[in-house]
Amino acid sequence: MSAEVVWMKTNEQKQMVTQALDELASALERGESEQLKAYLSTLGRFHRYSVGNVLLIAMQRPGATHVAGFRTWQKLGRQVKEGEKGIRIFAPIVWRVKKAERQEGSDGEDIEELVRFRSVCVFDVAQTDGKPLPEFAQTGGEPGEHTHRLMQFAVEQGIEVEFSDALVSAHGLSAGGKIIVRKGLSAAEGFSVLAHELAHELLHRDQDEPLSRTVRETEAEAVAFVVCQAVGLEAVNAAADYIKLYQGSKETLLESLQRIREAAVEIIGAMTRKESAEGGGVEWQGAGEPQIARAA
Ligand SMILES: [Zn+2]
Repeated sequence: MSAEVVWMKTNEQKQMVTQALDELASALERGESEQLKAYLSTLGRFHRYSVGNVLLIAMQRPGATHVAGFRTWQKLGRQVKEGEKGIRIFAPIVWRVKKAERQEGSDGEDIEELVRFRSVCVFDVAQTDGKPLPEFAQTGGEPGEHTHRLMQFAVEQGIEVEFSDALVSAHGLSAGGKIIVRKGLSAAEGFSVLAHELAHELLHRDQDEPLSRTVRETEAEAVAFVVCQAVGLEAVNAAADYIKLYQGSKETLLESLQRIREAAVEIIGAMTRKESAEGGGVEWQGAGEPQIARAA
């Protein structure tokens, strides 16, 4: 029996899913990790750009990951390198001080609400140097063949998977029948992002009453975590931090438990069936316990 293969009977699968979700629930109960705090205080400052601006950035600088203005980079301890050409985008100028702003620098008083657009220059992180940016917790390990199986599952569901460097400040995107994964991620991260977007496709397409972003992100990340766990990836910190980033909690997780479990079992089941169909000694012969093998 190949050591990389996950072969579980339905019961074992369900048990594994339950254990994984318990582990995630306890991780969510713990406070924000140091890594998440650093991320929030620094990377939380990056804008979420509009679709139009994302296109403008992707056209001018494919592969851009973190984009900010000259001064923002300075505040983050980084300098735009000499001779770098800025990326032109349109910035809405809003004269309104948001009370909920978590960063310092908001002076309090509301003045007036006015929106205008002007062309501004921004720079990608690769055009700057200086203090390293804090990294978000990452999924670790080696998914091996499982990435291929996960992609096959997507295809069977009629979902197209594309790898692109046109994503700005997101690792993946689910667009109803199509998933885009950022190029250049580690194998483990790519696997986890693909599982996350697949969960969105399974759970959040064609909704009559759309769920809140917190619930959607909690569900998708929890499914991805369980699928990662099933193939032996290290993902608990990354998943818990991600869910907290979207204000999810143990309670959010518990409210969606059934939906998460079903989607996870469906994906893991499909990967497992593939393995047994492909042969190669992966069938459980009934001798001894079925093995839940973990990739090294
Ligand atoms: Zn998501």
